[in-house]
Amino acid sequence: MDSIMAQTLNEIVVDSPGRINLIGGHTDYNNGYVLPAAIDRKIAFRLKKNGSAQMCHIQSKGYGTPLRLNLQKVEKSSVEWENYLLGVIAGIQKLGHSLEGFDCEIESDLPIGSGLSSSAALECGLASGLNALFELGLSKLEIITLSRRAEHEFVGTKCGIMDQFSSVYGKSDHFIFLDCSNLHHTYVPASMGPYELLLLNTNISHQLSDGQYNSRQDECFEAVAQIQKQHPRITSLRDVDLDLLSSCKALLTDIQYQRALFIVQENQRVVDAAEALKSKDIEQLGSLLYACHEGLRDLYDISCPELNFLVDYAKEQNYVAGARMVGGGFGGCTIHLVHGDHMESYIKEISEAYKREFGIDLGAFPVRTSNGTTLRKLSDAAL
Ligand code: ADP
Ligand code: MG
Repeated sequence: MDSIMAQTLNEIVVDSPGRINLIGGHTDYNNGYVLPAAIDRKIAFRLKKNGSAQMCHIQSKGYGTPLRLNLQKVEKSSVEWENYLLGVIAGIQKLGHSLEGFDCEIESDLPIGSGLSSSAALECGLASGLNALFELGLSKLEIITLSRRAEHEFVGTKCGIMDQFSSVYGKSDHFIFLDCSNLHHTYVPASMGPYELLLLNTNISHQLSDGQYNSRQDECFEAVAQIQKQHPRITSLRDVDLDLLSSCKALLTDIQYQRALFIVQENQRVVDAAEALKSKDIEQLGSLLYACHEGLRDLYDISCPELNFLVDYAKEQNYVAGARMVGGGFGGCTIHLVHGDHMESYIKEISEAYKREFGIDLGAFPVRTSNGTTLRKLSDAAL
């Protein structure tokens, strides 16, 4: 946050973007590869000191009663959304930083619970805002780490590091090739020729903390524990290749084997996708997206009829290079690579088809890659 730290202000506005992950579903918590980008949908925070020593008010537009809190008593709330923010404040305090009273207004144009990581945008936006407002000197990595911990400890979702990382480190016109085992990352130009990114929201919402997300993690970790019995050096599915996995098949339940197979194949697909992007081979990139979806559907078992319908529809259109479900699963969004000339007609046709099939309105929004967390000058603020 160098640019943010350079400014001393009593009132600031921070834009905290959502993210898409082009490919690399559920590899992040398995120490694998992902290929995300921050997007031009975001949560905006306006923060100011309110002169009090410890009283804070946080109002999120559309979320009813504001969160009022005393900095000396930061603890879990029974209101879900408040926990993301309380977890961040507690995390900052745990690092030994002291805060003073502040007021915060939040406004978002990010779909919620749809796989675009509104939760990470919420956490990292507040952490970055407080970092700037109180000149805490937190590094980007500290912001990412404490935000993730807030989600683990205050909300109960055992998310990987990708969401927070992409929201903070995003770069316009680039994807981030990120190795989640050590956070090494390189930027890959998002040069996809005439193809553009389209997100379609099934408007079916998942609740990650309800357990399915965490249970997939458990299944992966159990698979690792079994494999370790024969191969003690293996500490995550990242270290497993196809040969090793098939040699260990007898150690695993069918479910554990399927989950592990998906992750091993998916890691390779991310590497291949980064190469395809670099060589501008959009057809190959698209096929990898379809293969990813099939794996999430058949092996990882986290798709649903609405998501499958959208991806199957995409396959029928020769101006769509590829599509897949994104996010935690059981609803949320699909990502499509659509030829720009057909974007408008495609949105219209697929929305009508979806409505006919399920009686639900489809959310459709083209997205572009964007920069990560940004401090806006107050004169630019639109809140
Ligand atoms: P995703 O991160 O894919 O959007 P999650 O289930 O991880 O889905 O996080 C969604 C949750 O984050 C919401 O249910 C809400 O509690 C919180 N949240 C997201 N955006 C906001 C916001 N603008 N204001 C308050 N809470 C929000
Ligand atoms: Mg989330």
